[in-house]
This record gives sequence, C-alpha cells and structure tokens, in this order.
Amino acid sequence: MARPTPRSTARKLETPSTAQDTRRLLAKALAKAAADYQNAAVIPHCTQCTKPCCKLESLVLELEWKPVKLLWRIEESRHAFDRRLATGQGPEEIRAGNGLYYIHGKACPAYDETQGSCRIYGQPLKPPGCSDFPVYEDEGGIMADLRCEAVDLDALVAWIARALGPGFRIVKSADEEFPFLVTLSVRKVSGKPSRTSAHK
Ligand code: SF4
Ligand code: SF4
Repeated sequence: MARPTPRSTARKLETPSTAQDTRRLLAKALAKAAADYQNAAVIPHCTQCTKPCCKLESLVLELEWKPVKLLWRIEESRHAFDRRLATGQGPEEIRAGNGLYYIHGKACPAYDETQGSCRIYGQPLKPPGCSDFPVYEDEGGIMADLRCEAVDLDALVAWIARALGPGFRIVKSADEEFPFLVTLSVRKVSGKPSRTSAHK
C-alpha cells in the first residue's frame, strides 16, 4: 500500500524568538504530524484490524466516572456503583482505583463490533486516551504504541522526520518494561542543517 507523506511543517519552526517558543512550536508540529499519521495510516486500517484495541483484550481503558456512567448507562449514584464493584457485583470488566476506573477484558460499550468502529468517534464523550492511541505527542517527542498493528515504526519515523524537515533527527528508544511503547525523541542537528536521519 502506498503511504501518503506529510507536508513539511518546518516553515513553522523557523522563526521562534525564545527557547520556549521553539519548544511550543516543536510540540505543535509534532502533535500535528502525529494526528496526520493517525488519519493517513491508522484510522483507515481500523475497520479491518485483526486485533481491535477497542475489544480491550490487551489494552486497558482508563476512564473518569462521567464517561463510565454514560457509556454503561448507570443510573445509581457513584457511591452505590463503587460499592457494587467492591462486592464483586459490578461489571466484571471494570476495576476502580485512584479515583478512576480501569476497563479490561471485554469490548468497550461504545465499540460497534459489526462495523469495527467507535460509535462516539468525534464526540466529546470519546476519551482523550482513545484519540491519542496509538501515536501522540508527549513532552516534545512522539509516543508510539506498537500494539496497534497499523503502526509501521520505520514509516512513522520517516513521516515525523519529513514533517519537521532538515535540521532535526529522530532517535528511537523502547521502554524497558513495556517494549511495545516506543519514544521518538527529536534532536536538533547542530551547525549546518543536514538531512534528517533516524537511529535505533
Ligand atoms: S489497534 Fe490500531 S488499527 Fe486496530 S482498531 Fe486500534 S487503532 Fe485501529
Ligand atoms: S470509546 Fe471508542 S475508541 Fe475508545 S475504546 Fe471505546 S470504542 Fe474504542
């Protein structure tokens, strides 16, 4: 499959007045590049995915009370629901902790298994974590979750490098504990701008 390529956003990085501006512009360019990559390479694959993340078989969905209440159509109070969970009578896929709810082992109620899509796509109720998955900007770098089969790491590195333009290089590093989580760090090339390159 031919991969679309991003238009360079380097022009936006050329005129920062302070280091803070540089970081802000870089983060903005990375967030856009990540969103563009998702739109071009990930989302079109979702309906044919063999391991949909929304089935929550390997991923855990983290939610606050409001989306839990709405998605599971809970009518009782939070206190009553928490008590039900604590006594093992709540939805077995939901665990409570740290003021949040963790869902695992059963498909998200917003997942349309027939269509292979999210019923609340583009709506405010859709959790930010879902929109971020599997590629998002984080503290001036890019986080990529390789549990998504649509992510091609080399293609993603090339995509980000192209989006930033010459003057930057991308460095890959996998999380030691969770090697499917890969950070793409951005390094400024000192001196005369050179062709952007990717390193393991
Ligand atoms: S794992 Fe990736 S390709 Fe599969 S449904 Fe989730 S985002 Fe889409
Ligand atoms: S809210 Fe939508 S994107 Fe998020 S897990 Fe549920 S179905 Fe998937």
